[in-house]
Amino acid sequence: MNIPFVNEPFTAFTAQANREAFEEALRKVESELGQEYPMIIGGQKITGNRTLTSVNPAAKDQVIGTIHQADQELAEKAIQTAAETFQTWKHTDPNERARYLYKAAAIMRRRKHEFSAWMVYEAGKTWPEADADTAEAIDFMEFYAREMQRLSEPQPLVRIAGEDNELTYIPLGVGVVIPPWNFPLAIMAGMTSAALVSGNTVVLKPASTTPVIAAKFMELLDEVGLPDGVVNFLPGPGSEVGDYLVDHALTRFISFTGSRDVGLRINERAARTAPGQKWIKRVIAEMGGKDSIVVDSDSDLELAADSITASAFGFSGQKCSACSRAIIHKDVYDEVLKKVIERTQKLTMGSPLEVGNYMGPVIDDKAYAKITEYIEIGKGEGRLVHGGSTGDAAGYFIEPTIIADVDPQARLAQEEIFGPVLAFIKADSFQDALEIANNTDYGLTGAVISRNRAHLEQARREYFAGNLYFNRKCTGALVGTHPFGGFNMSGTDSKAGGRDYLLLFTQAKLVSEKY
Ligand code: NAP
Repeated sequence: MNIPFVNEPFTAFTAQANREAFEEALRKVESELGQEYPMIIGGQKITGNRTLTSVNPAAKDQVIGTIHQADQELAEKAIQTAAETFQTWKHTDPNERARYLYKAAAIMRRRKHEFSAWMVYEAGKTWPEADADTAEAIDFMEFYAREMQRLSEPQPLVRIAGEDNELTYIPLGVGVVIPPWNFPLAIMAGMTSAALVSGNTVVLKPASTTPVIAAKFMELLDEVGLPDGVVNFLPGPGSEVGDYLVDHALTRFISFTGSRDVGLRINERAARTAPGQKWIKRVIAEMGGKDSIVVDSDSDLELAADSITASAFGFSGQKCSACSRAIIHKDVYDEVLKKVIERTQKLTMGSPLEVGNYMGPVIDDKAYAKITEYIEIGKGEGRLVHGGSTGDAAGYFIEPTIIADVDPQARLAQEEIFGPVLAFIKADSFQDALEIANNTDYGLTGAVISRNRAHLEQARREYFAGNLYFNRKCTGALVGTHPFGGFNMSGTDSKAGGRDYLLLFTQAKLVSEKY
C-alpha cells in the first residue's frame, strides 16, 4: 500500500445525516440480536456442550447473543490446528498477509456504524465512544499491515567485502490472544491483526462479556478470505480455557491485555516449561493503570477541569488510561474541584442508545459490585462531593462520583477501580504533586496541566508513565501518533500502535553467505 497511514476520522454526530446513519445501524443490529455463535477452529464451525449468554449492560434482560463455549478438549484442538496451519502461513508473502488486513479495514470502514452499534449494545458504549473504538480497530489494521511491509524490506546492515548478509523478521509460531472487554473491537482486532500479519497463527479467546463483537470480527476475517486455521475462535471461561492455552507446550507467545492479576498469572505460568516445549514463551502483557492528572498552580484551570472530567468519566471510567486521581496544587485545589463538580453535574447518564447520553452503564454485575464497594470505601477515606449513587436498575448504572481530600496512600488513591470514581488529592507543591503521581505500582498514562516550562520539563524527566500528556486529557491515544503501553505493573510497555510493536511478534534471522 503506497498511501501513507492516516488516522481514521471520528464521526461528527452533530450532523443529522450521520445521526440517521447511526440510528439505522442500531436498528439493523437490534434485528440481529439473540443469535447463536459457534466456535471456529480451522474454519469449522463448532458447537459445544455449553453456551454463554451475552447481555446488554444497559438493559440486563436483553440478550445480545448466545456463544458456544470451549472446554479443554477444544482448546487442544485449536492449538493443534493453529500449529498445523503455521507450517504454511509462515511462508505466506508478507504483502499478501498485509492485503487481508487492508481489505478487512476497507470493509470495516464501509460498515463502520454497524460495528459500533454492536458495541453500543454489547459493551454499553455511547455513540462517540463506540465510533472511536471502531476507528481505532481500522487504524490498527491499516498501521500493522504497513508495518509488516516495512519490516519485510531489506534491513540495513553494515556491508563487508565478500559477503552477502541479510536480516529478516520471521514469525514466532502459535500465539494465544487474550483481549479485554473494554475496547472489545479495537484491542481484540489490534492484537489479532498484529499476530497474523507477522506470520503467526492465532487462538483468539475473547473476553466473556463481549464475545459477539469478536464473533463479528471473525465473520469479517472470513469475508476477506483469510485462510482457515490462521485465526481460531475459542470463546470460553478465562480461568479454565485461558490457563490451558497459556500452559500448552505448542504455545509460542501470549498476547494479553487485561487486569494486573490475570496478567501476572499468565506471566508466571508461561515461565514454566511444559514437557516437550522447545522455546521460552514470550509474554506481551498490557495491564491496569491508576492514572493521574497533575494540575500546577500556574495553569489554565478551565482546561484542567475539562481534561479531568473527560478523562475520568468518558466510558464511565472504564479505560486503562482513565484519570482516577486528580492531583491538584493547593493554591488552585478548591477552584479546580469546584469546576470539575460543575462539569460533572451536567453529564447525562442513561441508555447509550440515545445519542445525548454522555455516560452509559458499567459492564456487568461484578464491575457494579466492585465499583459500588469502592464508593463506600471512598466515603470513609475522603469527602463525597458528587454522585455516589446508582441509576436505573434496568442496567448497571453508576453515577459519576467524586471523592475529595483523599490521602495519597488511601486505597482509593492506589487501587484500580475501573469505574466512574475520581479521587481528588491536594499537593503542597509541584514537586509534591509529581511524587504523588509516581507513588503507585502502575505507570500507564498521566497528564500535567501547567504553563510553567520548567515544571513541564521536570515532569518530562521525572513523571514515570508510558504515555505522558501535557495540557490535554490522559485518554484518547491515537494509533501511530501515541504508541500505547505502560511501565511497572501496567505491563510490558509493548507500545501498541507504534513502530516497535511487530518486533514483539517476530524474531530476527540473520543469514550470511561468503562469496
Ligand atoms: P481481565 O479480567 O484480566 O480479563 C482479560 C482477559 O483475560 C479476558 O479475556 C479474560 O477472560 C481473560 N482471563 C481471565 N482469567 C484468565 C486466565 N487465568 N488465563 C488466561 N486468560 C484469562 O480484564 P478485563 O476486566 O477484561 O479488562 C479490564 C482490565 O484491562 C483493567 O485492568 C484495564 O486497566 C486493563 N486494560 C489495559 C489496557 C492496556 O493497554 N494497558 C487496555 C485495556 C484494558 P474472561 O472474560 O473469560 O474472564
